[in-house]
Amino acid sequence: MQQNQKQRLVVATGNAHKLREIAEIFTQYEVVSQKQMGFCEEVDETGTTFQENALIKARAACRALGESVLADDSGLCVEALGGAPGIYSARYCGRHGSDEENRAVLLKNMAGVENRRAYFTSAIAIVTPDGEELVVEGRTYGHILLEEQGEGGFGYDCLFFSDDLQKSFGEATAEEKNGVSHRFRALQAILKLLKDREQV
Ligand code: IMP
Repeated sequence: MQQNQKQRLVVATGNAHKLREIAEIFTQYEVVSQKQMGFCEEVDETGTTFQENALIKARAACRALGESVLADDSGLCVEALGGAPGIYSARYCGRHGSDEENRAVLLKNMAGVENRRAYFTSAIAIVTPDGEELVVEGRTYGHILLEEQGEGGFGYDCLFFSDDLQKSFGEATAEEKNGVSHRFRALQAILKLLKDREQV
């Protein structure tokens, strides 16, 4: 590898928003998606935790591509619901893909509930071809609103009032949210692990 050539880091996601967020933090790497590298398989997320699911996705792409792969798994955990929707956040309404229906189910399940504390969490895993596995988790805390506020973001953003921002993620700009988000915190934690590893 030439001196000024960046090391490549493959990201196991089809989500362009996530890819950009990761590239903005991993500036010393050439960040590419697994699809750009020719791996398009849908991997079954059979884990029982966010960390297991992140590892499952990273291992599958690493095995197929023979390169280091970063994967994430994220979701919303609500205290009064025993941590639900948790790893099922993307399909809380019973099927994959409808943010609006997921939010409607959340509001229904939270009707009359006083304790509305909740957090978003993001597990990030990096798996290397020589079998090394790093995994971290980042969180951001807040509470579930009684009704939607704001129209920005995606998923549960407009129902989540952020402790850090003192407004809903749906009302926040992308920059504001990215500065305190669970994914940002997890990415920083794994970047620190990578840097510490290089020191030894
Ligand atoms: P995934 O990790 O991209 O599969 O995300 C799982 C689900 O968690 C998403 O479909 C959203 O419903 C929810 N989620 C994860 N991160 C966020 C976020 O930053 N804002 C709102 N919803 C999120």
